[in-house]
Amino acid sequence: MIGRFGGLIGTLALGLSGCGDAGTLQNASWPLHGRDSSAQRFAPIDQINTSTVDRLGLVFAHDLGTDRGQEATPIMVDGVLYLASAHNVIEAVDATSGELLWQYDPQVRAESARGCCGPVSRGVAVEDGRVFVGAIDGRLIALDATTGQPVWEVQTIDQDDRLAVNYTITGAPRVVGDLVLIGNGGAEFGARGYVTAHDRATGERRWRFYTVPGEPGVPDNAASDSAMAIARETWAGEWWKYGGGGTAWDAIEYDPELGLVYIGVGNGSPWNHDMRSDGKGDNLFLSSIVAVDAATGEYHWHFQTTPADSWDYTATQNIILADLEIDGSMRKVLMQAPKNGFFYVLDRETGEFISGEPFVNVTWATGLDPKTGRPIEVPSARYYRTGEPSFQFPSSGGGHNWPPMAFSPETGLVYIPAQDVGMPFAEAEEEQVIGAYTSGVAMDGGGAMTQEERDALYAGMKGYLIAWNPHTQREAWRVNEVAPFNGGVLATGGGLVFAGNTARELVAYDASTGDRLWSFDAQTAVSAPPITYVIDGVQYVAVLSGWGGGWPLTGGVMALQAGKAVGPNRLLVFALEGQETLPAFTPPTMPRRAIVSARPTDEAAIARGNQLYARYCLRCHGTGVVSAGAYPDLRASGLVSGPAFHTVVIDGALAPNGMPGFADKLTPAQLEDIRTFIQARSFEDLGAN
Ligand code: CA
Repeated sequence: MIGRFGGLIGTLALGLSGCGDAGTLQNASWPLHGRDSSAQRFAPIDQINTSTVDRLGLVFAHDLGTDRGQEATPIMVDGVLYLASAHNVIEAVDATSGELLWQYDPQVRAESARGCCGPVSRGVAVEDGRVFVGAIDGRLIALDATTGQPVWEVQTIDQDDRLAVNYTITGAPRVVGDLVLIGNGGAEFGARGYVTAHDRATGERRWRFYTVPGEPGVPDNAASDSAMAIARETWAGEWWKYGGGGTAWDAIEYDPELGLVYIGVGNGSPWNHDMRSDGKGDNLFLSSIVAVDAATGEYHWHFQTTPADSWDYTATQNIILADLEIDGSMRKVLMQAPKNGFFYVLDRETGEFISGEPFVNVTWATGLDPKTGRPIEVPSARYYRTGEPSFQFPSSGGGHNWPPMAFSPETGLVYIPAQDVGMPFAEAEEEQVIGAYTSGVAMDGGGAMTQEERDALYAGMKGYLIAWNPHTQREAWRVNEVAPFNGGVLATGGGLVFAGNTARELVAYDASTGDRLWSFDAQTAVSAPPITYVIDGVQYVAVLSGWGGGWPLTGGVMALQAGKAVGPNRLLVFALEGQETLPAFTPPTMPRRAIVSARPTDEAAIARGNQLYARYCLRCHGTGVVSAGAYPDLRASGLVSGPAFHTVVIDGALAPNGMPGFADKLTPAQLEDIRTFIQARSFEDLGAN
């Protein structure tokens, strides 16, 4: 920790606007993932506003002691911030001073390679003196909020499932009455999605809703039984061997007024519809929003954003509840900007489609059917039918991914961290390997792209903060970011929008115009969403800085675009008149020298190594072996050419550091191919130095 409460003097009067309270707001918490049950990530607090924001400064910074990805929304109740860092390390920190009150470590570093996107967490839930934690190994853990000591712990993954090792938890648990709900991840490896409700007091399982059907004839005895009768009609082939997908790894929102829980459902396992379901059927409830009864898990309605998903177009992105005037009458709606690039407004009582338009460049579909909301697909998008690589926008990274958007009821705008990134989709003949990426899609277009095409792709990657009008389904303004994959958003009653970016900043914008009013050099990219709260009349803004997660997929390239995205990860807390500063930091430089003196000449080995690298290495070590920074840049690693390469990659010598062994997945001959590919990439990029 550096600095404690420096420079902040006295209590500042807090004016209120658009808020029912009278006089001065002395205290305001951030108790739920999306602040309140609307999950709008809007706080009607205006001490920090368009006029005062230039006086905003750092109050304290708390070092998180890791360079792995930070995605969590802090929870602030009773003057304490509850943080979830990489590897599910949980910390309780005094919200005004930064003093560390306790730390809990569930010891999951050996599980770092589970899941698609790093040992990340999107946060905890806090209720009635308990902190609820989802661990990457599938455990749901209740901690005492005062001491950090475990109270109960349950395993949410069926350990006798042959796919068990494929599952993760990265999402934040949600408290719904006397239940705590959690979903899982793992659809890139092969998993069957579900959400489980546990008793808040004891951890006992109360209900489970599966998002896709299981093996025919094998009963679930679950809350989803009646829904699975509907869903099963939309599947073919032997999907259950792969799990089918539909993992619910992020959005789970509770509407107390309607007694409904809205589940954002993920992509297919495997991605390739032909491999998964013989190319037949819509595959419910993949890429859908499903509404279930909060108390029982019983099915109410669903809306499928991407039927027969084949592009990793998850509908797990954050869901916002609002009451909007539509055609002259007030409607209870929910809004989502899923990966597929369309912004949806749905009636949340019935699931009826109200409207939807593309908020980024969308090429896989020409639009949505105005009555049903069903996408009107471009035939060539289904690469497994044409046998040709199909270049489409958005990529599997989505037009919008997990960094949450926010909605201001004062401006009526939704603020979306969005991007235009395209990707070549091509069918791959893949055998299922438990514990390994199994998508049926050739990463990098099956090697079909030339270097020129790849350069053009990378140069064309754009990131934006988009202000979207959900009434008109039109953009109000946009800010061009330096690179894609920027941070989650906070909107406030001060007429401000806060969002981090890959250029290592936290920025405050005018919510009405997008004018940039304030920024802070965070020394590392800021992906996680900021929050705000008031203690003793002082408004604070807090955010976790740090980069990683799934971004290394495109991260090496992005690191080149945005400058080095990785630096010290911290909790950063700001208030008016804050005077603290961060210690000086010099970003590490890119590697300089190739690990071989000439490019290897065995082109067949390089091509095989490329495919193997894409399946086993790319998600951490970066596209094209260009490291994003948190993981070693193999282009310059002395380990690659020597015997230690085998010791580390096959034998798992660095497993305690989070680099697992691949003895059960890679043969020595395959390891040689990967080595040859990395050496080729090293010489291509660094050989001239
Ligand atoms: Ca996915």
